[in-house]
Amino acid sequence: LPGQMMRRPLLITSLLRHAQRYFGQREIVSYGEHGKVHRYTYADCHLRARRLAQTLESYPVRMGERVATLAWNSFRHLELYYGVAGIGAVLHTLNPRLHLEQLIYIINDAGSTMLYFEPAFIEQVSEIAQHCPGIVRYIALCDDEDLPVAAQLPQLQSYEAHLCSDDARWNWPIFDEDAASGLCYTSGTTGNPKGVLYSHRSTVLHAYAQVAPDAFNLSASDCILPVVPMFHVNAWGLPYSAALVGAKLVLPGALLSGSALHAMCHHEQVTFSAGVPTIWLSVLNFVRQHGSQFQSLRRIVIGGTACPPALMDSLRDEYGLQVIHAFGMTELSPLATVCTPQAQHQLLDRTELRSLLQKQGHVLYGIDVRIIDDAGHELAWDGTTPGHLQVRGQWVIDSYFGHSAGSAVDQGWFTTGDVANISADGYVQITDRSKDLIKSGGEWISSIDLENIAMSHPAVHLAACVGVFHDKWEERPLLLIACKPDVALQAEEVLALYQGQVAKWWIPDAVVFVDKLPLGPTGKILKHRIRAEYRHHLCP
Ligand code: ADP
Repeated sequence: LPGQMMRRPLLITSLLRHAQRYFGQREIVSYGEHGKVHRYTYADCHLRARRLAQTLESYPVRMGERVATLAWNSFRHLELYYGVAGIGAVLHTLNPRLHLEQLIYIINDAGSTMLYFEPAFIEQVSEIAQHCPGIVRYIALCDDEDLPVAAQLPQLQSYEAHLCSDDARWNWPIFDEDAASGLCYTSGTTGNPKGVLYSHRSTVLHAYAQVAPDAFNLSASDCILPVVPMFHVNAWGLPYSAALVGAKLVLPGALLSGSALHAMCHHEQVTFSAGVPTIWLSVLNFVRQHGSQFQSLRRIVIGGTACPPALMDSLRDEYGLQVIHAFGMTELSPLATVCTPQAQHQLLDRTELRSLLQKQGHVLYGIDVRIIDDAGHELAWDGTTPGHLQVRGQWVIDSYFGHSAGSAVDQGWFTTGDVANISADGYVQITDRSKDLIKSGGEWISSIDLENIAMSHPAVHLAACVGVFHDKWEERPLLLIACKPDVALQAEEVLALYQGQVAKWWIPDAVVFVDKLPLGPTGKILKHRIRAEYRHHLCP
């Protein structure tokens, strides 16, 4: 017997239309270059996204066609999020920090036909144009005044010049909620990057789940600053969930230094923000150096890589912030788990609560997790047994772009490539990425645990622990440390930290002090590069 309720497809435009209708005057602030700040409202954003959609239809850009962006978090990028997906085309966000060859590979693999780009990226874009013949139109995200000179770019126009005027009779098209809406490539730390193709339905459901009290707890009273870039898994979904709840949105552009972010938080009265740990380290350093505070900021989400407990402690204990550790991946849209306490944790003492909050947390409704052993058998949820983490759910990948249906899934589950344990009450703790685990004498050592301990030393800025070749044990842990400026640290002092905190055989064999650690395009430490460089550091 069919239910007798309305069937309205879950389309991305419904989010912006909701914000425009019920929160029309709520502000969207966008920080540009040379101190330019652009302010407008959800009503303005909706109007311009409509004009963009009409422009695209006039070319015509068709359902399913890929439209690429090479852009920071800005109001024009936000209009593209809604305008492109709103006509059934696919927004393909590119990471400007990738190598040119990777960008070219990704654009050609995606078959994108248009490229919207920041004028500052004109050199990269001119190179792209020579190797990506499928792109027939280039639009610079500026007005005519700032249009870069580049004769070789086909149909080059400024964004402002290319927006159609609004036809009041035009309506957003209605189509199947399973239609593709966005395309984002994994960073390809092993092999070529692969495309993850989101749908309208998966995106809207993800936004619904993300705003819940035991998730990001977002509301109309919030002012959200997504530091995580809009080219990195849709800024973790925040451009959608902000519209869903009608929150004020602050887009930082290219201004990502600790001081710039701190100033933005202060001027805009930001209450909520999200980003990778390295971002929060730099904001924390700035605040400390200047004897400042976080003012209006209440909650921050840290994810993308394990958050060092020392960072979490400082933000929470010294500055009173609620720090929410979250786990996700490009393939999961990205959010799978968040770490917020539940009723059964009310009686935990400070130390117990601290270790709970360091975990990656509980699932959101819509996501299901399990851990399995090498033979594929499900493992117990006892909070200690590590296994391969698998995920399934409404916003989890089924197959990579261009691959056959179901090919990313094994018996209904997607294997994340992470190793985790799960506690009896369902809290996931990632102990490593499968490929980063250190295998010493056949036993696993968690590189994350070893890094967290090193990071607890006040002189340590960043730490990375990798398994390097050992002639007796196969692999042994090697610790690399980048210290804070102007501090000296001895290896013995760091190694002493491990006494009593981990089993003796977990203690790193050596410490190497470096000026900096190699960071990837999303701010994560490139361990494969460190492994390659230091492979024979212990045993030639
Ligand atoms: P990539 O790092 O390959 O670009 P993603 O950005 O999708 O891909 O990152 C996904 C991976 O990041 C996860 O598989 C996991 O290893 C790691 N990760 C994300 N969040 C966390 C977290 N809170 N703690 C530990 N690892 C995390």
